Amino acid sequence: MDSKMVKTRFAPSPTGFLHVGGARTALFNWLFAKKHGGQFVLRIEDTDQVRSTAESAAGILADLQWLGLNWDCGPQPGAAKNEYFQSMRLELYNGYLEKLVKDGRAYEAYETPQQLAAMRMAAEKMKRPFRYRRNMPGRAAPGSGPTVLRFEMPFETITFHDLILGDISVGGDEHDDIIIRKSDGFPTYHFAVVVDDHDMGITHVLRAQEHLMNTPKHLGLYNALAWTPPAHAHMPLVFNMDNTKMSKRDKTKAARVAVAVWVKQGNSADKLSEITGIAAEQLKEFLDKKTDDSRIAAAIGTALGAPLPEIDVQDFRRSGYLSDALLNFIALIGWSPGENREILTREEMLELFSLETIGKTSGRFDRKKLLWMNGEYIRRRGIDELLHDLAAFNVVTQYPIKNAGEAQQRELLAMYQERTGTLAEMAENSRFFFEEPKMDPAAFRKHIESGNSRVVLQQIRDMLALVTNWSRDQLAPVIEKIIELGEKRGSAPQTLRVAVCGGSVSPPLLETLCLLGRDATLARIDAILQSPQSSVS
Ligand code: GLU
Repeated sequence: MDSKMVKTRFAPSPTGFLHVGGARTALFNWLFAKKHGGQFVLRIEDTDQVRSTAESAAGILADLQWLGLNWDCGPQPGAAKNEYFQSMRLELYNGYLEKLVKDGRAYEAYETPQQLAAMRMAAEKMKRPFRYRRNMPGRAAPGSGPTVLRFEMPFETITFHDLILGDISVGGDEHDDIIIRKSDGFPTYHFAVVVDDHDMGITHVLRAQEHLMNTPKHLGLYNALAWTPPAHAHMPLVFNMDNTKMSKRDKTKAARVAVAVWVKQGNSADKLSEITGIAAEQLKEFLDKKTDDSRIAAAIGTALGAPLPEIDVQDFRRSGYLSDALLNFIALIGWSPGENREILTREEMLELFSLETIGKTSGRFDRKKLLWMNGEYIRRRGIDELLHDLAAFNVVTQYPIKNAGEAQQRELLAMYQERTGTLAEMAENSRFFFEEPKMDPAAFRKHIESGNSRVVLQQIRDMLALVTNWSRDQLAPVIEKIIELGEKRGSAPQTLRVAVCGGSVSPPLLETLCLLGRDATLARIDAILQSPQSSVS
């Protein structure tokens, strides 16, 4: 590596949520910069005025912060747009656009979308790919359609050395004259990305393979502007286990299936707008597959209680994955640190990371493995760290644990640490500490309604009522006795558990009762004893 300070960048377009594939790109750029004592730049590519939103940009920043991928230069969270937003850099782009025009390398074009479509069709008929070229016949005259600026690509082979994929060549007849300024006056991605990477001193562009064929176009621009291009490396794509590309469409597809099932169950599609809060027209467009708006999918998922596959970083955060576990997991998609290493701290990642160890072929997103890894992280962590993870989880969710005090949260974390795969699972399973339990009918029949369970429950109640100082020390011998009672009488501990927790699975009874407290424990038992037989079916 030469002596120039390494500078990488992550350059998301703020048109939606941060996808895990994007997070992986950010991580590799972050690792590469840190590993070489360099800088990691975050740049928001908001040149698409229609699709870019401030909300999306803010969400991306929040997700990166949650993952601990801090940037050395970039937007300030919560502050107004700064120079790391492309929409704030138009003057810079315009200067270089003018220069290209002056140098004869860029020219205006006037086709309407219909004319372009017809040109494309004509080329297809002749079994040739369509390439827009300055010297081609049939170009539209000024005034025919919107004015754009195109860059005249050279008619020569462009070759570059990709640091992961090796040498890549694209022949002169495969280029086309890309649009560099749109009719709204904004530069296109291709132009802005080149100007910014140069202007910001980016030394290494690490991005996903879907951009591989953009690089020759960018190199054409670097050449025309007489700039030295950065090094490039294109990373493998992220695939589902069934070999399909992992995309936000997985979520929208699942939402449409959920609606179809719901309608089949006899619900009227007209009600969907009311329960999702989404305008009927927008819903129709979504269901007709005219849009793939993740927000509509999310609203449908929530309204119908249908879980959608996690795709975006915030989906995983809401599902209770720890940021370190998710980061560790996505690092291994397409990267192999060697020696079958799986659980890696950030420091270990930094030590082992190199572009040579990144694969060429797409990586798999194995959800089972992620769940396993998350459980491992939960078990290996100290309670202080978990408390921190839980706080971040509570920011984006509405489980009752959110409102618990710190001491109570600590106790719950200690109680569930060994028995939960995610924080959401813990938050769901611990609901009964905060609200009346939802009774599991099968457990109720088996442990409350059968045989002499009610008599046993009354006995248990009497034993517990004698404990006036509701502490671990005082309760422990009573629980022992209840367990002994169970040995003689069947399932006494389970009867107690179902009565206070609503189901037959919970953390150990002693911890559970301690935390639940005397009043709630006795009140729940009393409610059952006073309920008529078969009150739950
Ligand atoms: N804004 C582009 C994207 O989100 C960035 C691509 C690049 O890294 O050059 O895909």
